[in-house]
Amino acid sequence: MPPGDPHHAPITMSDYLPRERFEDLLQQLEQAGYVCVGPTVRDGAIVYDRLNSAADLPAGLSDEQAPGTYRIRSTGSTRQFAWANGPQGLKPLLFAPRETLWQATRQSDGTLTFASATVAQPKLAFIGARACDLAALALHDQHFLHGAHSDPTYANRRRDLFIVAVHCSHPAQTCFCASTGDGPSATYGFDIALGELDEGYVAQAGSERGQTVLSALGLAPAEAAQVAAIERQSQDAASKQTRTLPGRNLRAALFANLDHPRWHDVAERCLSCGNCTSVCPTCFCHSETEHTQLDGASSEHVREWDSCFTRGHSYIHGVTIRPDTRTRYRQWLTHKLGSWHEQYGRSGCVGCGRCISWCPVGIDITEEASVICLQGQ
Ligand code: SF4
Ligand code: SF4
Repeated sequence: MPPGDPHHAPITMSDYLPRERFEDLLQQLEQAGYVCVGPTVRDGAIVYDRLNSAADLPAGLSDEQAPGTYRIRSTGSTRQFAWANGPQGLKPLLFAPRETLWQATRQSDGTLTFASATVAQPKLAFIGARACDLAALALHDQHFLHGAHSDPTYANRRRDLFIVAVHCSHPAQTCFCASTGDGPSATYGFDIALGELDEGYVAQAGSERGQTVLSALGLAPAEAAQVAAIERQSQDAASKQTRTLPGRNLRAALFANLDHPRWHDVAERCLSCGNCTSVCPTCFCHSETEHTQLDGASSEHVREWDSCFTRGHSYIHGVTIRPDTRTRYRQWLTHKLGSWHEQYGRSGCVGCGRCISWCPVGIDITEEASVICLQGQ
């Protein structure tokens, strides 16, 4: 199913994974050579990190999110995935915040030799991917793998990635993936998808290797009532979402309103901190710099996440072409929701809501887009 397809795929051919056997799933993946990465609690947030066992999962916890707010709280439930999303999805695992791409060394005869810094990576199994993050992954695949030049560093990490998705059952107040057509159920891009019930999981294979892992667990088929409960839960999760974008393709509306007074208004509130672009699972802007040894004998070429909110992002030949927060915020919104359609055939927003929760002043992309697109000048 293509990225952004709004239709929910009904669950077919499902197994039932009792909660106490989740550990077996992790062990099965480890036996197949994967290092398991999944949700765990660190520094007051649910983050993705190495999973040593199912005990590392955030059981009995949920998240409360609102503009400028993120908190985890205890629910008393046995559920391990009763939360929406943390500050990051898959992005930092595949597109590292900072990494060396190549090294150059000056030889004794003055010539330069270049060596790739790409190193072999462990095979990762990512546990708990959400539908919005799979949509973002499909966009990053388009950008990093299927453009004119495939990115070897991203490709190296992406090649063996095994994905266990979990359908979202507890959207945050900031989520709007139903509005963008990207969730809350995972419909493509996974090896195994899990729907969580109080006692266990309805498990569905999405690839041959996913089927191999499930078959090795020797699970019983899921009952029709369990499958129906997951379907109901997904519909409830979609209907609980209150935020929406004013359309899936806002290109014309945004570019017709480049002088809208709201750009000034939002610039008064925005701190140009770049949090929104850091947490956004689809943002891929980066800078590249040379780090040269003092003796000039060698240098490293380093790639780091950048943001359209930094001064250097629009610096060209002595001029910063977006000199203020108004033009930088406008660049973020018109690219993300407008010109992405020309580049990638869809919007760059998958409705995860992270930029709303993690914005220190609570700027809400759905509200800004609605005012600018629906209340044109
Ligand atoms: S723009 Fe905001 S809501 Fe949309 S994908 Fe990025 S972080 Fe998520
Ligand atoms: S919109 Fe919010 S998160 Fe983004 S740069 Fe402005 S203040 Fe920072």
